[in-house]
Amino acid sequence: MSRPLVRTVGTLVRSACRQFSAVPLASASPLVHYGLWVDGAWVENASETVTVENPATGEAVATVASGGASEIDAAVRGARRAFDSGEWSEMPPRARCRILFRAAELLRNSLPELAEIETRQTGRCLREYKAQLGRVPEWLEYQGSYAATKGFEGRLPPLVDGADHVNLVWRVPLGVCGLITPWNHPLLIATKKVAVALAAGNTMVLKPPLEAPLTVLRLAEILHQAGVPPGTVQVVPGPGPTAGDALARHPLVERVDFTGGTVTGLNIARSMADAGRVRSFGAELGGNAPILVFADARSVEEAVDGVAFAAFVASGQTCVSAKRVLVQREIKAEFQERLVAKVKALRLADPMLPDTDLGPVISQTQLERIEGQVKRALEAGAELLCGGRRPGRERCALEKGYFYEPTVLTNVSPENPAFAEEIFGPVISLSEFQSEQEGIALANASQYGLGGAIWTSDVRRAHRVAKKLRCGLIWVNCHHRNDPSSPWGGFGQSGIGRENGPDAFEEYTTTQSLTIRTSEARENWFGDVNARYS
Ligand code: NAD
Repeated sequence: MSRPLVRTVGTLVRSACRQFSAVPLASASPLVHYGLWVDGAWVENASETVTVENPATGEAVATVASGGASEIDAAVRGARRAFDSGEWSEMPPRARCRILFRAAELLRNSLPELAEIETRQTGRCLREYKAQLGRVPEWLEYQGSYAATKGFEGRLPPLVDGADHVNLVWRVPLGVCGLITPWNHPLLIATKKVAVALAAGNTMVLKPPLEAPLTVLRLAEILHQAGVPPGTVQVVPGPGPTAGDALARHPLVERVDFTGGTVTGLNIARSMADAGRVRSFGAELGGNAPILVFADARSVEEAVDGVAFAAFVASGQTCVSAKRVLVQREIKAEFQERLVAKVKALRLADPMLPDTDLGPVISQTQLERIEGQVKRALEAGAELLCGGRRPGRERCALEKGYFYEPTVLTNVSPENPAFAEEIFGPVISLSEFQSEQEGIALANASQYGLGGAIWTSDVRRAHRVAKKLRCGLIWVNCHHRNDPSSPWGGFGQSGIGRENGPDAFEEYTTTQSLTIRTSEARENWFGDVNARYS
């Protein structure tokens, strides 16, 4: 088995200031180089090599081969050959399931190492990745099991002329799928897509983001070790506008499944149309999650804990992170006081440390975008309750990273950018509502409709309000719950299609319908036409 090429680029620079870090922010390990993963091996014929940066320190984590249109073309053609060979696509689903279970086990064994890589390439806290990645192998097991049991079960629709005909309907894989993934949960999001695509019998080309491609490359290697044939899972990291676009346009791709920003999703849809391609398309896009906190929540303290978790885990960089916190008037003052106290106490530090609450955001560009959005929110009348800046000089261990203090804004009208836009970082707005109806109207006053949450102890209210929210995912007295069996996807500008569960399996397969005439009687629609001229 080939391994990523290790280059001894040398020891990384350590941060001079460590008041907030018990161990150095920088890693002393040698820099690893990753190739593209194509046809079951590491390949090095990419147009470019890029450096993956640690957002907590600005230092290099690894180098990676970055592909463009020609590498994508070669990978898609390889995936098509693999599909046509039938080795995977025609393998009995139970045999595929066994391989996916083996892959899940291998993945489990690699999780401690993969969690560290995730933290180094994204800056998200190691403690969070340890919790999140522990669940990731379940996606391979769930979809493998579903394919082996229910997924390919056919149907016999009762035709109107059923006495003379039998109709058999079964599911088949689509072919080559193009998967385009974001940096914010690199391994989780890639595995969600790969697990169902594989279980359904497809082959695929995956284009992870250049910010965080490393664990996705490792996933492909693990799948190979488990017995997934060469060419079935190809991974080509590369820039979105070239590699991603080439994948979306490629004539041999039968489905594009994208997770990322709404604008990018629209660009991909446009490229597919420009290329004259009609194909299956899944899009998991941006969000701007509302949380409704009702006065009948079990306790204000518990709701504050829940909102802080919903908003600031992953430094607010998830598509379902709480953004618009809507609190019923009776408890707004107490809620605000407790929330601000809690947020001010959150520890912004080295994400490798077990007691760090927030790491940095992903990049300098993203840090500046968040700063710009907060500035515009304040100019539009919002009031800053805490945060709203990079950490001060007293936290100089964080100077080289892209840290932004957890931020709470209030006096935010629905027209304010902080209410209307997705701020992909640790920033929330706090507003109040009086009646249930007003709360629902505020929650729905967004072009997005992905995650949403309700804090109440009244089960009737929870059910009533949930049915009115225009969100694909709703949590009551909790947040961020995600399971391979439970559909994931949005309304409105948050996307189309669903990940997870049977819904995703159906999106990665299509039906074939076979009608067999069983009648003994002869059928002759036009009658004996020769007799007309005799
Ligand atoms: P992004 O849209 O910038 O990039 C996502 C992927 O698309 C990357 O691989 C990128 O290289 C690629 N890409 C960029 N331009 C492209 C183009 N023109 N053609 C083809 N591919 C292109 O998003 P991001 O910054 O990586 O992720 C953050 C966004 O993702 C947020 O808006 C967040 O809400 C969203 N997101 C949604 C979900 C969900 O489940 N709905 C999950 C995670 C993230």
